[in-house]
Amino acid sequence: MVSAVLVIGGGPAGSTAAALLARAGVAVTLLEKETFPRYHIGESLASSCRAIIDFVGALEEVDARGYTEKSGVMMRWGEEDWTIDWPEIFGPGVRSWQVDRDDFDHVLLTNAVKQGAEIIEGAEVKEVVFDGDRAVAAKWSDPHTGERRTTEFDFVVDASGRTGLIPARHLKNRRPNETFKNVAIWGYWQGGSLLPGSPKGGINVISAPDGWYWVIPLRDDQYSVGFVCHQTRFLERRSEYESLEAMLASLVEESPSVRDLIAGGAYQSGARVEQDFSYVADNFCGPGYFVTGDSACFLDPLLSTGVHLALYSGVLSAAAILATVEGDVAEATARTFYETLYRNSYERLFTLVNAVYQQQAGKDNYFSLADALVNDEAETEYEKVDGARAFARLVAGLADMDDATTGHTGAEMPGGNADNSVGQLFSATEQARRMAEAAIPKAPVSEAPNKLDGHDLFDAETGLYLMTSPRLGIGRTRPLES
Ligand code: FAD
Repeated sequence: MVSAVLVIGGGPAGSTAAALLARAGVAVTLLEKETFPRYHIGESLASSCRAIIDFVGALEEVDARGYTEKSGVMMRWGEEDWTIDWPEIFGPGVRSWQVDRDDFDHVLLTNAVKQGAEIIEGAEVKEVVFDGDRAVAAKWSDPHTGERRTTEFDFVVDASGRTGLIPARHLKNRRPNETFKNVAIWGYWQGGSLLPGSPKGGINVISAPDGWYWVIPLRDDQYSVGFVCHQTRFLERRSEYESLEAMLASLVEESPSVRDLIAGGAYQSGARVEQDFSYVADNFCGPGYFVTGDSACFLDPLLSTGVHLALYSGVLSAAAILATVEGDVAEATARTFYETLYRNSYERLFTLVNAVYQQQAGKDNYFSLADALVNDEAETEYEKVDGARAFARLVAGLADMDDATTGHTGAEMPGGNADNSVGQLFSATEQARRMAEAAIPKAPVSEAPNKLDGHDLFDAETGLYLMTSPRLGIGRTRPLES
């Protein structure tokens, strides 16, 4: 295999793509602006992350870090308290972690090195060079010599996070999302507790009249506490306080629930703020490039799905590149596969987050929406999930994993074991292939072959699915129409 891939950014998306491509024998260089470990927000992980981390070969390392094991979510939302307890719903193996991102991201980056990627830290990519509409090279500053260098590549994975090197800086096609024009402010407490009835190690999400709080139990009895509200409200409130630290302390006092949870804890000085974090690019890929993780899109932290989307798109981008290099499909088809799967995940979660922001709607409404989002008519032969379970599957990232591997939105593996065997989802390819095949006869005749534009398009129109063994790539259950 002769191919060179440049990965820009060493967060979860970049290190995942780099590790998988390097393991498959591709020459991978990853350029990361910072020197790791570096601080990052995004601490509460969906359970799909565990399966992907296993797949990239870092599970043992991550397990050994002693992060808090997360087994779900407790919402004190509007007038209701409700929990999503993953082991209770899906079985004992389904869990993830609440992580210190500086440490976690460093473990994943080190794993990419172990898998054979060359990592250069302190190397900021300044520009991606295009030949027509094809990305062909990147200009970056060499941290050792200070010189400006140019690296040519066959493919580039833009994993530059909020920087959005290709979509925001070069193509200027990343658009802010007006619905979630929110600001987050957060800090850390030493000592605290969770709401009674919370799943073990779970995140608490607590609504307020003008926003919501997160309380995340990190390792060593540290608690991450944050508040999210609309920018307008944040700016109104900001002028009341001398410092961000004073503002956060006051916000915590205003919520009896949050105040009680950290009453015995010590506020570790400092507060951080992020804004303008909700946006989406017009294209998630193009000739020679794939845009992953936060570089392509980010919705809102409400359901803690950002790292899931980063890891998931890291896997999909690596699969699309390998599928092209190995000749599974043409590059344009691989791009459509990537664009459709990643955009579908983003849009589905966006729809759900948008609904949950309507605090008074109530959980039954969120659950029936979730049920509609993971079920479609093409899957009538499969057991339909109930609303609460559908919601849990979406928030755990499991619905996306099933879509990719089965090519069938909402379908579960035969025997209903997909959720129980999260750690094995990526090794269930043969089973997935049979599922996709089984779905084909029910598919409508396509009037636009190769046009992937719906929830069930992988089985119904192309028979494409994420192949994970004997190697990563794109599998197909029937020959592609030209
Ligand atoms: P990043 O993790 O941001 O990594 C991008 C990397 O690219 C960085 O290391 C950066 O230094 C590097 N880089 C940037 N520009 C360049 C360049 N020009 N050259 C070289 N390198 C470059 N997600 C969750 O799953 N759970 C949560 O609880 C959660 N909470 C959140 C709370 C808030 C307030 C916010 C804003 C987000 C939250 N998220 C959460 C989202 C999560 O932080 C992101 O979705 C996730 O970090 C995206 O990973 P990534 O790899 O795409 O980008």
